[in-house]
Amino acid sequence: MTVEPSTGGGANEANEVGMDQVFAAGGVMGRLIAARDWTATAFGPLRDWGPTLRTAVSICLESGFPKMVLWGPELVYIYNDAYAAMIGHKHPGCLGRPFRQVWPEIWDTMCPMFDQVMSGGGATWSQDQLLLLNRRGYLEECYFTFSLSPIRDVAGGGVVGVLATVQEMTRQVLGARRLACLRELATATSDPRSPREVCTRAVEVLDRYSGDVPYGVVLLRDPHAQRPGLRPVASCGLAGDPETLDRPEGRRQRDDGSFALPEAQVLGVLSAFGRDAALPELMDALSSGQARVVHRLPERLPLRLTGGCRPPNSAIVVPLAEGCDGLPIGLLLAGISDQLALGSDYRDFIELIAGQISTAVLAARANEVERARAADAFYQALHDELTGLPNRTALLDQLGQALTHARCHQRRVAVLFVDLDGFKTVNDSLGHQAGDELLREVAARLLQTVRPGDTVARFSGDEFAVLCGDVTSTAPIEAVADRIVTTLAIPKTACGRTVIVTASVGIAVSGPELSDSGDILRAADIAMYAAKRQGRSCRVIFDEVMRAQALCRLRTEKDLRRALVTDELRLFYQPVMNMAGELTGVEALVRWQHPERGLLEPEAFLPIAEETGLIVPLGRWVLETACRAAGTWASRLPTGVAPRIAVNVSTCQLADPRFLPELTALLDATNADDRYELGLEITESALVDDTSAVAATLHDLCAHGVILYVDDFGSGYSSLSRLHRIPLDGLKIDRRCIARMTEDPAEHAVVAAVIGLAHTLGLTAIAKGVETPDQLAALQALRCDLIQGYLLARPQPDLPSWRPAIVERC
Ligand code: C2E
Ligand code: CA
Repeated sequence: MTVEPSTGGGANEANEVGMDQVFAAGGVMGRLIAARDWTATAFGPLRDWGPTLRTAVSICLESGFPKMVLWGPELVYIYNDAYAAMIGHKHPGCLGRPFRQVWPEIWDTMCPMFDQVMSGGGATWSQDQLLLLNRRGYLEECYFTFSLSPIRDVAGGGVVGVLATVQEMTRQVLGARRLACLRELATATSDPRSPREVCTRAVEVLDRYSGDVPYGVVLLRDPHAQRPGLRPVASCGLAGDPETLDRPEGRRQRDDGSFALPEAQVLGVLSAFGRDAALPELMDALSSGQARVVHRLPERLPLRLTGGCRPPNSAIVVPLAEGCDGLPIGLLLAGISDQLALGSDYRDFIELIAGQISTAVLAARANEVERARAADAFYQALHDELTGLPNRTALLDQLGQALTHARCHQRRVAVLFVDLDGFKTVNDSLGHQAGDELLREVAARLLQTVRPGDTVARFSGDEFAVLCGDVTSTAPIEAVADRIVTTLAIPKTACGRTVIVTASVGIAVSGPELSDSGDILRAADIAMYAAKRQGRSCRVIFDEVMRAQALCRLRTEKDLRRALVTDELRLFYQPVMNMAGELTGVEALVRWQHPERGLLEPEAFLPIAEETGLIVPLGRWVLETACRAAGTWASRLPTGVAPRIAVNVSTCQLADPRFLPELTALLDATNADDRYELGLEITESALVDDTSAVAATLHDLCAHGVILYVDDFGSGYSSLSRLHRIPLDGLKIDRRCIARMTEDPAEHAVVAAVIGLAHTLGLTAIAKGVETPDQLAALQALRCDLIQGYLLARPQPDLPSWRPAIVERC
């Protein structure tokens, strides 16, 4: 092919470009252009192409980069091979046609730029211009950057055309867009509270990237379900069936004007995904752990995109991360844009989305477990395991809040301290299981008894507390306390046994003097102890006198601890005589020589010693002192006289496992030759206390020659049936009975009955507190065996001198 040189361009022939060579080097496009008749176009016949056009065309054709030459006001264009390969189906139809006709879709954007170049405004470029090109059998989303340079007429005319270089930016644009999507996804799912929230947030992000993900569904497997099943958890881009979509009430409008179904309906449609028969690819992906492409989706599922369009033809199913059972925790089903090639970039992108969702779902699950664990620990920290009630910490916390609230509303707060009477006996005799059962029953009864809004807490062991807020007067609180006392007094069943355990209730009500949590609790505790002292199974309201007494008791307790080590205790001895006025023995009675308060009687300190457990070391001291004194006393007496010394022991001492070994060691040390007789006076409660430990101790004591008396007989509730089962020696008749026997015939009858009972059982009857000759005469008439009382002798610091008279073993 020969191209005639032209002079039309007015150029110097020697410099003119040899177009033959240009077309020859111009590949397919070179040949095409050379063969075409350009007469009817702005280019004109080939032979007339001037040097400017020839140069421009040669630059274009010989370049390996996509280039085009746009010529004349119409911007008719020709292009090179690289460009032809890039524009797909537009080639070759667009060759030689005006740009505007070929690319009407971008004309509005490009036109001002061409105008600028053509009008001499200089070069310019357009960035990432979107074009839909059919290059592989479908319309593909492509991006291009056009660089436009003016072609100036070499003869000095103006701009006669545009030389454009085009660079395809599709990969970069899609890459940047997908990167942005992944970034947003990472941010949106970075602090998830639940797997569902992860999925919802993830699809919200995907919804903004519908170019890449036209729709998406996240399906999760329920980790707790017995059968592996998929549950659609969140979706984007999908609507229900078109019918539903047409009904206005079934849709809500989005910001962009499109419609979306309410979530419930979307999930309804999505449930179709869970059916493996509809989409076996789902189960396939799940079991293989591999991504699967789903084809012909619109034909298989009645889906619509939001806005009503038919969904793209294909979707990809990507398994989420592996769970503990080795199966994926779920699936991501993502629509594949019909305008994008499902190349490795696209696949990688969807898999990265799935990866991000997986990581976030697993993190959310771990968070959930952690939160549940923390909530559990929090609950445990504030609740009692046995009863499920709030514990001390929780009650203190609530008390603090209630006090603050009460102060603001001129109200008061009450705390009821509930302590079970005799719980320890149940625990010791029936075992801990019964004790636990009993405590649970008490908790249940308390909850039924208090008012709605009151808080019942377990403080410790057998101590409960009730917190009542919004108190305006004490009457309703006293009513609650009364109900508690009554309800808890009703017999309960524990381990199949009927148990009677009552409660002592102390009440403290907040006020100006009692405004601090700690003070209120202490006050309720003090009142509770007062209730115990009042005979138990009752309630007492705290008052200021009680506080003073409590302080005094505290001081006494402190002093008593000191007294035990600084030798302040003393023993007094009160003679016991027979009816002939002859000494038969003594009762040892403790005193406390207090450095400031002087000589204290037992009632000033023994109750505190009992409450605090100090009775055990105190009793040990009494026994040791009494036995050593008796040993010395006996050694001074004539041979054959064995004096008897009686010592009071509390139930606490008897229950102490060290009691028996210590006592036998003491007897071995002081009475190896049986020079004196040791008597122990036990209370009726020791008999009632049916624990095998106490009963065994009493039998062992008897075996060691120790004489046992029941003290204050007639005052309490001795179980007569038990009297003959315990190896007793005598009954000491309660002083209060003796005091009234001469005035009150009924009391006289009681004393007569006790003496008769003692004799029937072969026991000695001992009358205590004999103060008058009338009492003595009455006792003599009733044939009481021994007597003790101020009429005969008061307790004295020294052992009495022994008249060599009759000392008989009763
Ligand atoms: P108790 O066992 O009934 O001891 C007799 C109490 O009656 C003694 O009071 C004694 O002083 C008092 N008493 C004796 N005769 C008369 C009388 O004719 N009229 C009046 N009104 N009272 C009389 P005390 O010494 O104050 O002891 C009180 C209680 O303290 C004792 O009562 C006993 O239960 C307890 N106790 C005393 N010493 C000890 C001890 O070492 N250990 C234990 N566990 N308890 C002790
Ligand atoms: Ca006594």
